[in-house]
Amino acid sequence: MQRLIVGYHRDEEGDWVAHLACGHRQHVRHRPPFVVHPWVREAGGRHEHLGTPLSCPLCDRGELPEAALAARRTPSWDERSMPERLRDDHRLGPTTWGEVVVEEGDLVLSAPTIGQPPPLERKLVAGERAAVPPGVPHRVVPLGAVRFHLELYQVEPTDGTDGGGGGEGEGGGEGEGEGGGEGEGEGEGG
Ligand SMILES: [Zn+2]
Repeated sequence: MQRLIVGYHRDEEGDWVAHLACGHRQHVRHRPPFVVHPWVREAGGRHEHLGTPLSCPLCDRGELPEAALAARRTPSWDERSMPERLRDDHRLGPTTWGEVVVEEGDLVLSAPTIGQPPPLERKLVAGERAAVPPGVPHRVVPLGAVRFHLELYQVEPTDGTDGGGGGEGEGGGEGEGEGGGEGEGEGEGG
């Protein structure tokens, strides 16, 4: 899926790495004829590409980014106590990742817009977990008796500094404050 560029840094070899709004990092190289991104070599070009989309295969695979910071855990729910709207398409906020963690029983996590052609529709059994990227419609459907919770993570959009300074910084701050709804921080979706 497409994710916006929010910043850059250079790796040890001097190659540029774009920071995406989802929290993933992606090399942006200019190695014609294989990879052609001439703009990445100039500060002006990098600046112009802030806010433009890159395809993020890691989001398509539902891989939680390393930069995601654990923020919150919901209570454990069963098939009766879970918020009803989790069963229908809903989505997390733009800087929030979630993980569905199954404690007992099993459920199906489906996300019709991600995954390679067969969309993600994954049965999770006790002890398994699966990540849900920001902004992706998904639903959680219990298969009989189940007990599960969600773990929520925040990614902080970085500003577009041109690197050099190294270091990831301390994070700090609260992030965006997730609108929130009824407590477990899932957005409205729909
Ligand atoms: Zn991503």
